[in-house]
Amino acid sequence: EDGPKPLLSLRNINMTFGGVKALKNVSFDVLPGEVHCLAGENGSGKSTLIKIITGVYRPQSGAVIEYDGQTYSHMSPVTAQAAGIQVIWQDLALFPEMTVAENIAFQTVLGRWPRPVNYNSMRETAVRALARLGVALDVDLPLKEYAIAQRQIVAIARALIGDAKLVFMDEPTASLTQSETDRLIGIVRTLSASGVAVVFVSHRLAEVLEISSRLTVLRDGALVGIYPATGMTQSRITELMTGKTFDQA
Ligand code: ADP
Ligand code: MG
Repeated sequence: EDGPKPLLSLRNINMTFGGVKALKNVSFDVLPGEVHCLAGENGSGKSTLIKIITGVYRPQSGAVIEYDGQTYSHMSPVTAQAAGIQVIWQDLALFPEMTVAENIAFQTVLGRWPRPVNYNSMRETAVRALARLGVALDVDLPLKEYAIAQRQIVAIARALIGDAKLVFMDEPTASLTQSETDRLIGIVRTLSASGVAVVFVSHRLAEVLEISSRLTVLRDGALVGIYPATGMTQSRITELMTGKTFDQA
């Protein structure tokens, strides 16, 4: 096969909650440095797929996860993080009372990465991670002084200091204004240009088309397909997501 080798490749992913089949034999892959959108209606299994890749859930047996030259039957959160897989959760999982610097360097404080824990080195780590995103915040301020869009940038900066190769963003623009969304899209492009692959979950199809090089569509827990973004239209994505066809004008 021609073309770049996937950084991540999943096969046979099944996940059941009680009687609900959240994922039905899903396959998915991500190329190094690409921006890949995960599209699907509410409840189609997008977040569940991310949770399997990041080790929050364990898929049913038979799953194959190939990542960066290694094969796994499942991930654990520690394995995923150590391998450079990071996720920006919708609720961001940050600490409002702590400073921006402490939030960004939090995982170094936990000892996940070998770094000194004095405040000055934490500060420098934080400033460098923000600079990589082209953003300057006062890292000594408590995070609660900043609005949601800046907090999200803090969460992305925190993800980057772990030497991320693959970053998942689950509905990152859901509570952003248009200009904040534009800035986030700029940050995603910067990440991608620096070689970090981004998997971006969004309902907003204009944004999906603007940002992604490829997209994967899920419907009712099943893979509909993986498509190049070139030549895609919003109405075509809607058809794929819903399984309904619409009249083309
Ligand atoms: P999406 O992110 O695409 O909106 P989810 O992955 O959150 O979809 O959910 C897929 C399906 O699995 C839905 O039917 C949802 O209700 C169900 N589900 C997700 N997580 C759980 C859970 N922890 N317990 C029970 N059902 C769940
Ligand atoms: Mg979701």
